[in-house]
Amino acid sequence: MCGIIGYIGKDNKAIEKTISCLEKLEYRGYDSAGIAYVFNNEIKIQKSKGRIKNLKDKLQIDTKSNCAIAHTRWATHGQANEINAHPHKVGNVTIVHNGIIENYLELKNMLIDNGYKFISDTDTEVACATLDFFYNKCNKNIIKSIDEFKKIIKGSYALGIIYDDDINNLYAIKKDSPLIIGISDESYFIASDVPALLEYTNKYIILEDNEIAKLTSDKYEIYNMEKIVDKEIKTFDFKYSTQDKGNFEHFMLKEINEQPKIVYDLLKENIDNNLEDIPSLINYDRIDIIGCGSAYHTSLVAKYIFEQQVNAEINCYVASEYRYENNFFGKNSLVIFISQSGETADTLACLRKVKKQGIDTLAIVNAQGSSIAREADKVIYIKAGQEIAVATTKAYTAQITILSLLALKLSYEKNIINNFDEIKKDIDKITEIIDGVIKNIDYETIALNIYERNDIFFIGRLVDYALALEGSLKLKEISYINSCTYPAGELKHGTISLIDDKTPVISIITDESVMDKTISNIKEIIARGAKSIIVSCIDLDDDIYDYSIKIPKINPFLQPIITIIPLQLLAYNIAYKRGCDIDKPRNLAKSVTVE
Ligand code: GLU
Repeated sequence: MCGIIGYIGKDNKAIEKTISCLEKLEYRGYDSAGIAYVFNNEIKIQKSKGRIKNLKDKLQIDTKSNCAIAHTRWATHGQANEINAHPHKVGNVTIVHNGIIENYLELKNMLIDNGYKFISDTDTEVACATLDFFYNKCNKNIIKSIDEFKKIIKGSYALGIIYDDDINNLYAIKKDSPLIIGISDESYFIASDVPALLEYTNKYIILEDNEIAKLTSDKYEIYNMEKIVDKEIKTFDFKYSTQDKGNFEHFMLKEINEQPKIVYDLLKENIDNNLEDIPSLINYDRIDIIGCGSAYHTSLVAKYIFEQQVNAEINCYVASEYRYENNFFGKNSLVIFISQSGETADTLACLRKVKKQGIDTLAIVNAQGSSIAREADKVIYIKAGQEIAVATTKAYTAQITILSLLALKLSYEKNIINNFDEIKKDIDKITEIIDGVIKNIDYETIALNIYERNDIFFIGRLVDYALALEGSLKLKEISYINSCTYPAGELKHGTISLIDDKTPVISIITDESVMDKTISNIKEIIARGAKSIIVSCIDLDDDIYDYSIKIPKINPFLQPIITIIPLQLLAYNIAYKRGCDIDKPRNLAKSVTVE
């Protein structure tokens, strides 16, 4: 989703540096880009629809400038075109914005009554005019006028701001959208995330919702209620960030191939210290898990692991619903929040809602120091490293790994298992097993046979249904093929009417307790002409499939980690054959920081 970068420094390299950092935010997904920079004491603006490259073509990158703000937009209000692209300038004020101004229509009418005119369809231009309005009303006292702005504005925002009258300062504010301040030699940055700045600095400050940052090339000030406050300078761990594809054609393929090591390291580190760093869930009488998209799917996988293997109930909720639902808690409730970026707006809103009720919270997050990681009572980092491809793979498996470890610990505490000896044997083999599933299966041939289809179905029962949901989502995200997922027994209640000659149906069978039932459902779809593809760890008769993907059978706490791999690679190979933009699928954003 939208990216913000700002820079102020003595070296006159504002354009070069902001554009280079903006490129590091490309992975988040966007539809247009723009920059405002100070040149000859004036603010110049350039914008472009599409890729940052189009913007670069319009710029003289080595033009000397000491201050700039730049933006990749993921349109929420108004089409993705050059007029709506950021930065926006009204009167004295130029801004870039991430978020949504909810009361923009009301404000727009008030501003029109006060003589303002608008040229774009965005809520951002209204925010910009509102800042200008208060700037004039507060006799050009910038800090005071921003405080007034914050009082009136509703919604979410991260803003980088430059004033015509004060071009030696760069201002930044935020509410419910991420923004950090980067600290370098004689220069400061603002950015949507820390990894975007790593070429120049790994020192940063987290800006909080009520604060205003004022940056000059030789100092920074953070204001809270018009008073300067002290802030902790943090250091980002370089180890977990690389934006290099290596020998792989796509980041997605690279990230799929990183999974054996990520999963092994997480399992080994925790099992070697007898799961001491994994929180105990034994005292909770109710556990809810909240997530969006793939993170929600990991919660469903966890539900089946907890229920089938640990005899413990789990409730899973989609964050965008949960935040408005009537929530129910037990006497001792725990709510777990799953988010790769740690900034997912809906999940963050749920976390804040739950915390207000005094309920215990646990976050499972990838991005260090992110809002969800900071605000939850406890956090477990999945240590997957920066994920660049929009469609998640390694963060998904790492989330499942952590959830499995939580289940394993509870299983031990409930005396369902007495030691970790058995699972340790499988952990020792897991790198080799995942590597084999990645490398030894001919996904290309299967993809070649189904990539031209418009509809592909996924079915499974219990945990295999939860995994099928993710396999289908991967396919939709990157290949744009319509795909539906059903519990295998559910097809005959309606959906089977959609199966016709050669409709591909991908069935997942790893749970032997329901294997025969799923096989009957597969026979039903074969009888109606479907092309059957099966992912299974069980030897099956060859009359129930056109293609079989055989994966190793492993401890049920770990099996989902193995089973998802072929589904990721099928999606990848199908999208590849269709010539899709695999790492940056259309319309999608990596870190969903708006509601
Ligand atoms: N709501 C703003 C717009 O549509 C900002 C979108 C964004 O976060 O990129 O321009």
